Amino acid sequence: MKAKNKDLWVFIETEKGRARNVGLELLNPGRKLADRQGGKLVAVIIGTDVDEAIKDSEAYGADHIIVVDAPEFAHYTTDAYVDAFTTLVNEDLPTSILIGATNIGRDMAPRLACRLKTGLTADCTGLSIDEESSCILWTRPAFGGNLMANIICPDHRPQIGTVRPGVFKKKEPDHSQHAEIFRKDICIPEKRIRTKLVEIINELGSELVDLEGAEIIVSGGRGVGGPEGFEPIRELAQVLGATVGASRAAVDAGWIPHAHQVGQTGKTVSPKLYIACGISGAIQHLAGMRGSDCIVAINKDPDAPIFKIADYGIVGNIKEVIPALIDEVKKIKE
Ligand code: FAD
Repeated sequence: MKAKNKDLWVFIETEKGRARNVGLELLNPGRKLADRQGGKLVAVIIGTDVDEAIKDSEAYGADHIIVVDAPEFAHYTTDAYVDAFTTLVNEDLPTSILIGATNIGRDMAPRLACRLKTGLTADCTGLSIDEESSCILWTRPAFGGNLMANIICPDHRPQIGTVRPGVFKKKEPDHSQHAEIFRKDICIPEKRIRTKLVEIINELGSELVDLEGAEIIVSGGRGVGGPEGFEPIRELAQVLGATVGASRAAVDAGWIPHAHQVGQTGKTVSPKLYIACGISGAIQHLAGMRGSDCIVAINKDPDAPIFKIADYGIVGNIKEVIPALIDEVKKIKE
């Protein structure tokens, strides 16, 4: 398929009519790529009662907004969303599409790419333009995170990629910005939708773990020594107003649920402050948190790799350092 224009589309995933962060984050690199490609930045919203999502997409910089707003899109179904998205792409033929690598994005993007007979680069951690081919240069970890692969899609359009939440930061919203809005009537017959949402069940025992939106994260690794080792981590998180994260070693040991895992096979985070406690700094962990503004590492091994990327390093035993930190924070707060 040939592109009809140089526009770059960003899928704005919604939840109860509101834009989820990942779509708004993608408008930020999307702006730069669209400018380099010489096209418009287009937000694509599929959902029900999405007026708030439209306002947010305007504030975060979309030039155009394509809206499909109908009851059958209240909850994500593969059939309805892929049908609607394919119809939109076939009408406009943009050159590139960015989609969040959420559960929904990971379900929708490969089906969309398959229907459009084009390529898909999943779970990207970097986006730029390849000078030679002018294609998007999709960067993603390969071989267990030991290599970063640069991928281009030279022959087919649109070029599609998914990007994990938290990889890019949202820009500051500007509520005075306005976009041109294109509402599309797409009706998906009920019999086309082969699945039905019966019930929403929250993850077992889940407190809501919003690592991706957290401003401060205190993470524990194997160095905490056991499930009880997370108690001081939780206390430090509580006094700082932070969210608790973990390395895969701690999750695999069953000390804390997977929802807390940061890294290549966990969440990608970009808080203002990330405190790594008893975490060595394996490349797969770094892949999920190196975008943090300020990294503090506490480790008893002065040669731990985490110190190479830390802004502040404390060489010491977490059993001594964390209680001392909790006391200090409490004193400052008093
Ligand atoms: P360790 O590497 O064992 O480090 C423990 C650290 O604690 C050491 O540096 C030690 O010096 C320190 N320590 C011990 N006791 C104390 C103490 N009392 N006080 C202070 N410091 C102490 N890992 C992730 O985290 N996230 C992922 O998403 C992820 N995905 C992966 C995907 C693949 C395909 C693969 C192959 C691996 C993945 N891993 C991931 C695993 C990763 O390679 C590491 O094994 C893991 O990150 C190690 O966790 P850790 O740092 O807690 O443990």
